[in-house]
Amino acid sequence: MLQSKKIFARSLILLAIAALSVAAARAVIAAEHAPTMPPAQALQLLLDGNQRFIAGKLEHPNQTPERRTEVAKGQHPFAAVLACSDSRTPPEIIFDRGLGDIFTVRVAGNVADKVVIESLDYSVKHLGVRVVMVLGHRRCGAVIAAVEGHEGTADQDVGPMLTELRPAVADSRNMPGDPVENAVRENVLLVMKNLEGSVELSAMVKAGDLKIVGGIYDLDTGKIEMLKE
Ligand SMILES: [Zn+2]
Repeated sequence: MLQSKKIFARSLILLAIAALSVAAARAVIAAEHAPTMPPAQALQLLLDGNQRFIAGKLEHPNQTPERRTEVAKGQHPFAAVLACSDSRTPPEIIFDRGLGDIFTVRVAGNVADKVVIESLDYSVKHLGVRVVMVLGHRRCGAVIAAVEGHEGTADQDVGPMLTELRPAVADSRNMPGDPVENAVRENVLLVMKNLEGSVELSAMVKAGDLKIVGGIYDLDTGKIEMLKE
């Protein structure tokens, strides 16, 4: 009986500490920048823009000289997107948005090294972003190189980008289906997990103040397939 009371008390203390640290992380972030817009609304704005892009009914919002003047005073993007450098996947175009809307980080293979994570962190903490999308794409050249390299030269020094892609290639190696498609998907999921490794971001996700989502862009249709949260 005494033992169970002790365990109960200890659990209460642990819960209180956990609640405090979440509250502290939220307080720090809230003090730095208020949200530009709620996460669900921000995600919807991205997806609506993608629908317009798929249908060829672009509105080109926020691309006027007036908007340029407005955002020159300060930026308050509603979303952050980590995309591949591939010339066929520019977020501002495939989401039909304009100046000051999307905080974009692009790097071959949409991998997240420390600088990328720091950039995305910044957009959340200092600019009010409340949805972060990791966007892979079909037939990604970087992922193809990683898949091909992985099979022949596992221990070779292949440079930082392919090194970043290796865990996704290794995790998807025995999956049924197309190895490149699988590695593209696995890479997006791993990068999302990496981002959630940031203590503050993870606290915000748990509190419902931030969404970290993943998508795969189809080069042929323009459609973004959202991965399960
Ligand atoms: Zn790519």
